[in-house]
Amino acid sequence: MFFRRRARADREFRKAQEEGFAMLQKLAQEPSPFDAAQAEVPVAPAGSGAESLAPDFPPAGLRAPSRQDVDGFMMRWVQPLVIDGEVRTCPQCGAYRDWIVFCMRDDTVWLRCRAGHEAKEAGLDAAWYNHNSGPVDRFHPTIEEGLRHLGH
Ligand SMILES: [Zn+2]
Repeated sequence: MFFRRRARADREFRKAQEEGFAMLQKLAQEPSPFDAAQAEVPVAPAGSGAESLAPDFPPAGLRAPSRQDVDGFMMRWVQPLVIDGEVRTCPQCGAYRDWIVFCMRDDTVWLRCRAGHEAKEAGLDAAWYNHNSGPVDRFHPTIEEGLRHLGH
């Protein structure tokens, strides 16, 4: 901002360009320009709303829940899930794809197969989940609703 103000005159601008870094360094050493530029920024009139939006925007209801607000996160994992080089299979029915992956608040990860068998997966953790899941875009009041949304 400061640089643009000073460069309003073409002649000064070219001069500044020619002098390059030396000029910039000299300007940077002047104590006042940044303060002066800030003082010229128009102050939003009180009550304009520009500032009052900031503290609680977006409204709490539209914000993605934080880790503390929810019991866990879930995502669908359609392709085979490879952990430590092995395709994970459901110990009860042998399913090897189309999982729902849960990441619980205690950082444990659970797998649920298409048939509804659930098992804790010690080979995965919250860091893995966060790395492999997309942004949280929905909140489901219950796991059942989440499962329905994810097609299970
Ligand atoms: Zn199963």
